[in-house]
Amino acid sequence: MASTRLETVIEAGLCSGCGLCAAIMGPERATMDLAGAGYLRPQLAGPPTPEQDAVIAEVCPGSQVMLPQGGDGLGAPEWGPLLAVATGHAVDDGLRRQASSGGALSATLNHLLSSGQAEFILQVTASDGQPWLNQIVRSSSPGDVRQASGSRYAPSAPLEPIVRCLAEGRRFAVVGKPCDIAALRAYARHDSRVDELVVAMIAFMCGGVPSETGVRQLLKRMDAEPSQVTAFRFRGDGWPGMVRATLADGTGRTMSYHDSWGGVLSKHVQLRCKICADGVGMSADLVFADAWYGDAAGYPLFEEAEGRSLVLVRTEKGKALAAAAEAAGQLATHPLPAAEIDAMQPYQLRRTRLTLSRLLAMRATGRPTVRYKGRSLAAFAAAAGLMANVRSFAGTLSRAVRNRL
Ligand SMILES: Cc1cc2nc3c(=O)[nH]c(=O)nc-3n(C[C@H](O)[C@H](O)[C@H](O)COP(=O)(O)OP(=O)(O)OC[C@H]3O[C@@H](n4cnc5c(N)ncnc54)[C@H](O)[C@@H]3O)c2cc1C
Ligand code: SF4
Ligand code: SF4
Repeated sequence: MASTRLETVIEAGLCSGCGLCAAIMGPERATMDLAGAGYLRPQLAGPPTPEQDAVIAEVCPGSQVMLPQGGDGLGAPEWGPLLAVATGHAVDDGLRRQASSGGALSATLNHLLSSGQAEFILQVTASDGQPWLNQIVRSSSPGDVRQASGSRYAPSAPLEPIVRCLAEGRRFAVVGKPCDIAALRAYARHDSRVDELVVAMIAFMCGGVPSETGVRQLLKRMDAEPSQVTAFRFRGDGWPGMVRATLADGTGRTMSYHDSWGGVLSKHVQLRCKICADGVGMSADLVFADAWYGDAAGYPLFEEAEGRSLVLVRTEKGKALAAAAEAAGQLATHPLPAAEIDAMQPYQLRRTRLTLSRLLAMRATGRPTVRYKGRSLAAFAAAAGLMANVRSFAGTLSRAVRNRL
């Protein structure tokens, strides 16, 4: 029986795997490890102290998420605070090709390093020992940033070392999933070093994190024996590019982005992601995503093209950073009418609007849920229409009753 908020979050399956609780509790009391179905979860040597649990209750994205107000008017409120919207790409053609979309995110990181604003970037890259998984790195050169570029559809806990990084007193930037960044922004209210030392909080739009089990199933479908895999990329080398496993005998296995995500990985996304009203990174300074081209009906096409990132500017800090990266010749951007995000990211719009109905269905079965503050989930839900909400409520309720969430 859970006695702390942290244990309630873990037991209810609400953890998104950000790693902040482990950072707050310290490595002797909590570490992040793959657990159960293959998601990164805190492994506790004992419960948090009451003081630690009070902080965790406010910063853990499985407990509470603040959806910041303001910056409305440039698009649907589901997109969060927006000062500007653009498409963009890295000016360096090699980086643009290797990165996930257009490499705009990595180009911005390169500017943070080359301008001296950041001494290192806390980010995620392929694991040395198991390249289909992730590890956390501190990048301090363009080579490091390039190495870490690309989306990695596997568990990551980029905040696990954050307290150690803050203790060093050096300036750095953080790249994370929207829930990681929401957690870090909330933690800034408890630790003044965050605002002093974290020069930029950068997120990518996130449709959800699959488990290691899902990634292993992908390897199996690709006929790639894990012990023989020496390198693994989920996409990139084109846009969207292919999943690519390199084997010890020098051969490679590939699968399309569409087949890997739609056919395998999306079926292994953790519960927390299905009730995520902030997959768009409302707390970040800058958010990057895929600026998909649409078909005649307005739905995204996933056909190969020259890489193009979507760039959402949320704060004055983010605005100055994007402008400086462009002036320094690292980043190229083109303004985009905010209304076009709706057609590029229909999944995000739908999930944000249906979050309330899913939360209500979970509560109806007595389950704990995430508290969202700052913006009205009811207003988002209204935009989806009555029938969509009823169907979503009924579907979640039926899965909850059958313990199939
Ligand atoms: C799990 C996941 C879900 C995503 N869902 C969506 C979506 O719904 N819609 C959408 O438009 N885009 C989504 N993306 C993001 C998208 O694929 C691109 O990362 C984004 O478009 C930026 O492209 P870029 O070329 O500018 O980034 P790049 O220059 O390639 O930089 C990518 C950055 O993301 C970091 N990163 C990669 N994987 C992880 C991870 N698992 N955890 C933490 N950091 C990581 C890298 O360290 C690097 O800094 C998702 C990415 C991931 C990893
Ligand atoms: S979401 Fe983050 S802070 Fe919350 S339990 Fe999981 S790892 Fe800990
Ligand atoms: S979908 Fe939401 S909760 Fe899940 S990993 Fe992405 S940002 Fe975090």
